[in-house]
Order: sequence, then structure tokens, then C-alpha cells
Amino acid sequence: MEPWWIEAQLRDGGRCVYCGFHLYAAFEAYWTTQADHLIPQRLIALPELNGLLQSHDVFRGGPVERDALGNCVTACTFCNQLKGGWIPPDWERMTREQIVDANRVRLIALRVRHEREFLRRVEMLSQRRTSMERSATGAVTRG
Ligand SMILES: [Zn+2]
Repeated sequence: MEPWWIEAQLRDGGRCVYCGFHLYAAFEAYWTTQADHLIPQRLIALPELNGLLQSHDVFRGGPVERDALGNCVTACTFCNQLKGGWIPPDWERMTREQIVDANRVRLIALRVRHEREFLRRVEMLSQRRTSMERSATGAVTRG
């Protein structure tokens, strides 16, 4: 593990900063640990943003690079994939903490939608299983 990544995980308490999932609670949880980048590489690469990024709270006077400690947060795979390269529209005027908070609020709303879909699928599978069991035990009679 890279030193910046160890430091980021210690700073974030070994939890996903968005959903709070304890990434060291079990091996399977640990396996989903990812570094989320607050300011995506596509913006870091823009020369016209260089001055702004150098003075931005995210980089705190350090090097403006993708894996800078301030640019990385600990996230679970679910939150990181759901977030993707999204960044709050007014990120330029926000502090690092405000960007993290805005990401969290958006992810919670998206998560609710995914959880509803999950519950719908569980219900559907449960109904199918019940009807299959009825057929297998001869509960369905034929003419
Ligand atoms: Zn998460």
C-alpha cells in the first residue's frame, strides 16, 4: 500500500466517508475499499484550472495531483462506483469538507433508489420461489 493511501484510511477511520461502512469489519468489506478522488483527473488535467486548484482547500498548498492526500477519501466500492466522476457544480467555491458533504448527500439519495430496486428484486425472487415450490410439491393440480 502506498503511504498516502495508508494515511487516507487512517484519517477516515477505516470507514467509507459516504455511507459509514466499516471497511475493516471483515475480509469481504476490506476487499471493497477504494480511494475516491474528490477532484477527478479530467479536471486536474485542465491547464486553465491549474491556478485555482493550487489555491484550493483540497490540495492545501501541496502538489496538485490525483493521489494527493487531500484529494482522496476512503470509500466502499458501491459509493465510489455510484459517485463516478461526479463533482458538485459549485465545487470551485466549496471547501474540501463541503465537497465531501455534497457527495454524501447525493449518494444517500441515489442509494435509496438502489435499495428500493433491491427490495423489489428480493420480493420478485421470493414470489417465484414460492410458486416453484408449490409446483414441485404438487400443489398445482392438472386437469
Ligand atoms: Zn460507502
